[in-house]
Amino acid sequence: MRYYVQDRGDQLSIDLSQQFHALAKEEGFKLDAESPEIVISIGGDGTMLQAFHNFIDRIPDIAFVGVHTGHLGFYADWKKEELRELVRLMSGKGDPERLKPRIVEYPLLELEIRKKSGNTSYIALNEFTLKGVDGTVVAQVDINDVTFEMFRGDGICVSTPSGSTAYNKALGGAMVHPTIEAIQIAEIASINNRVYRTLGSPVILPKHHHCDIFSRKDQRLLLTIDHVNVMVEDLISVRCQVARHKVSFARFRPYPFWNRVRTAFLD
Ligand code: NAP
Repeated sequence: MRYYVQDRGDQLSIDLSQQFHALAKEEGFKLDAESPEIVISIGGDGTMLQAFHNFIDRIPDIAFVGVHTGHLGFYADWKKEELRELVRLMSGKGDPERLKPRIVEYPLLELEIRKKSGNTSYIALNEFTLKGVDGTVVAQVDINDVTFEMFRGDGICVSTPSGSTAYNKALGGAMVHPTIEAIQIAEIASINNRVYRTLGSPVILPKHHHCDIFSRKDQRLLLTIDHVNVMVEDLISVRCQVARHKVSFARFRPYPFWNRVRTAFLD
């Protein structure tokens, strides 16, 4: 098995990463930074975002596994004490019923950013946000090429289903099961009064629908794609839709999403 380890860079994650390499060597796994089959992220959910973006050009060929150094996360669903068990299951020496990992696939968010200076595209694992740098954002939101609303406020967040437990949750968005092929639009502090009006509720769009966010004044905007920040002064529009490719996670044991939600937010 060809593998790569992405760690968070703190001492604990580096130590665990070295521990993983030692265990992997015993099992005959091959370290391969160029074309790994499995990428192990050690740190937290934020580390998984970094691993995802580091291998953005090889997403269809990779399965990710996440180890958390603290509490269990959403992408990082193995605890640091379980490293040996993880390697044992990866080697196929686990329960004969589950010799092969189950691959779960989560939809991603595709972004086409149009600027006066040129166009760029991105893929997000968690979400995209558009925020004002100097003040209120003024943006027109179209859904499937029909004007939906004129937004004024701090910004707009468009999340993937697996990102719905992250920033989207803090904005009052719904938690969406990560296998549902959809994207969610949530407002960030919209202005709503007798003059300005937005829907005020999060909206979930299915696959094959798209939304366009048009900049409607000269404004400096901060665009975030997961943990990546991009400052833009000449934005024309951003198209958001469910991406063609999905991201794969290797599950060597069951850990249902709703259990993760309960553990993270209720227990
Ligand atoms: P960060 O500020 O260091 O971490 C943000 C927190 O979000 C961390 O606790 C991280 O968990 C958690 N997280 C990441 N993905 C998640 C997911 N899918 N479900 C639940 N929690 C998740 O920033 P970062 O590490 O660079 O991560 C960037 C992410 O931060 C963005 O994608 C955005 O979702 C999130 N964020 C959240 C808020 C908010 O909730 N108000 C504000 C800004 C950004 P770990 O501790 O396990 O890494």
